Amino acid sequence: SIVLAGYGLTKKYGSTTALAGVDIEVGERDSLAIMGPSGSGKSTLLHTLAGIIRPDGGQVLLGGERIDRLGENRLSALRRSRFGFVFQSGQLLPELPAEENVALPLMLEGVPRKQAVERARRWFAPLGLDGLERRRPGQLSGGQAQRVAIARALVVAPDVVFADEPTGALDQATSHEVIRLLTSVTREQGAALVMVTHDADMAAHCDRILQVSDGRIGTYDQFTVA
Ligand code: ADP
Ligand code: ADP
Repeated sequence: SIVLAGYGLTKKYGSTTALAGVDIEVGERDSLAIMGPSGSGKSTLLHTLAGIIRPDGGQVLLGGERIDRLGENRLSALRRSRFGFVFQSGQLLPELPAEENVALPLMLEGVPRKQAVERARRWFAPLGLDGLERRRPGQLSGGQAQRVAIARALVVAPDVVFADEPTGALDQATSHEVIRLLTSVTREQGAALVMVTHDADMAAHCDRILQVSDGRIGTYDQFTVA
């Protein structure tokens, strides 16, 4: 069944059209890569689906319920509890050990610190991070830091994980390892994945690839053949 959908999404910035009428459906445990040239609307689409940007027109549905017209407080609560986010880099708090970075979203949900850290630690082995629980972000490699960020995105058991160029700062071999873990662990957890990437090799790890061009979605074939 469909966990997240956008229908007829439009967004303008002044005279710039960022989204020109996008329809998109994401199934349970589906992994979706969004590709396209710079300025084509990928980030706007991701942020609109994630309830960070409000569309000018159209609807965003999570589990069949419209979320694009929710009030800001309800929307931010929903983002914290039902979505996970992985960005390019620099998202970990440098003064906190890895396990406390992962525990943070749970603490924001009101889970007591000790319990939150206990739950956070369970994500370290599946992500190949055993023994790194007490390291601070500055003592982690780039790939390790991104795996900690993945753990942090998954710890609340979200419905959807959004990843915006999650390997943009990593070398090719490390990128493959990170995306392989991101796609597999996200699926095992039962969440869907929506990822923006410039890198076709990374997109190939996903179930589906959508090409965005001038704020519209085409299929991969249409754009490679044309
Ligand atoms: P991409 O992620 O594919 O690079 P974006 O979604 O960031 O594309 O941007 C799509 C278009 O909308 C671009 O022309 C961009 O300059 C414009 N845009 C995006 N965000 C803003 C903003 N906050 N203010 C003005 N223009 C924006
Ligand atoms: P990238 O293409 O590397 O993903 P973006 O172009 O999407 O980076 O920009 C990242 C952030 O800047 C987004 O939050 C986007 O909304 C904002 N942004 C993009 N283009 C503009 C713009 N022309 N004016 C103002 N903000 C913008």
